[in-house]
Amino acid sequence: MSRDRCRFAPSPTGHAHPGTLLAGLLCWLDARSRGADIELRLEDIDPDRCRPEYARRIPEDLAWLGLDFDRATRQSDHRARHEAALDRLEAEGLLYPCSCSRAVLREHDQPTPAGGWRYPGTCRGRPLPAGGWRNIEEPLRMQLPPGRIELRDESGIDLSQDPGLAFGDPIVRRRDGAVAYHLAVAVDDAASGVTRVVRGRDLASATATQARLQRILDLPQPTYRHHLLLLERRDQKLAKFHAAFGLDELRPHLDAAQLCGSLAHLAGLLPKPVPTSPRALLEHFSWTNVANEDRVVTFENLLG
Ligand code: GLU
Repeated sequence: MSRDRCRFAPSPTGHAHPGTLLAGLLCWLDARSRGADIELRLEDIDPDRCRPEYARRIPEDLAWLGLDFDRATRQSDHRARHEAALDRLEAEGLLYPCSCSRAVLREHDQPTPAGGWRYPGTCRGRPLPAGGWRNIEEPLRMQLPPGRIELRDESGIDLSQDPGLAFGDPIVRRRDGAVAYHLAVAVDDAASGVTRVVRGRDLASATATQARLQRILDLPQPTYRHHLLLLERRDQKLAKFHAAFGLDELRPHLDAAQLCGSLAHLAGLLPKPVPTSPRALLEHFSWTNVANEDRVVTFENLLG
């Protein structure tokens, strides 16, 4: 049997916080428990939100917790292959320019499963200029062919969806020239030979769009597993922008073993928040022991 390949793909849009570390820990435990290779891929292609300082710190913080990776890559180094995918989409006649603002989408009032509004296809049919997509500064979308993607993730979550109906045609290149999330993820997972994607449940509804892209670009489809999230309050993901506490606030109070124990306890892997390490957790790791429900965390309950 060939060896699985996994990846952990944080976006350096803020300092690592407990949610980042739990996602890294679960992804690492999944990979190492099956003897898989694991890549750390910093998804740093959003120039508005990513900062070099965070891209430097996140790998250090993951290493501090005890997570090691076989390779570290940066999505921004892969521009050539992202652009080759745009060439391919253009050759298939699927690309079109679209400058519709969020306000236009809001007016159509078609909510998506992930919040926000569906793109109603307003600019579908607009041609690219002579010379192709490189000769235009407007954002680009791609036409998603209609049809339902049937997909269930490994934890049993039904991800089946017609992504065009649920979200509409996605942006594939942004106004600032950066390739957009879905396309970059589909291309980079395939280029790294990723066979397993383990990530937070907030991304579950993105999977059908990514699977559609994989089919259009003839890329293999990995197995998916989506896990619990840490929440700031009920229904609000612990976000880098809003987190009242990042690692810098926690480290004066907790060493790596204590934080690892708290995270493992929150995830259902330990009955009590006792100090431990990723390596020690590996011994008994099984997804059947990981909690399904999201957990609300506060500074106090992490301190134990
Ligand atoms: N970079 C994304 C994030 O930090 C994760 C992408 C993925 O795992 O597919 O939310």
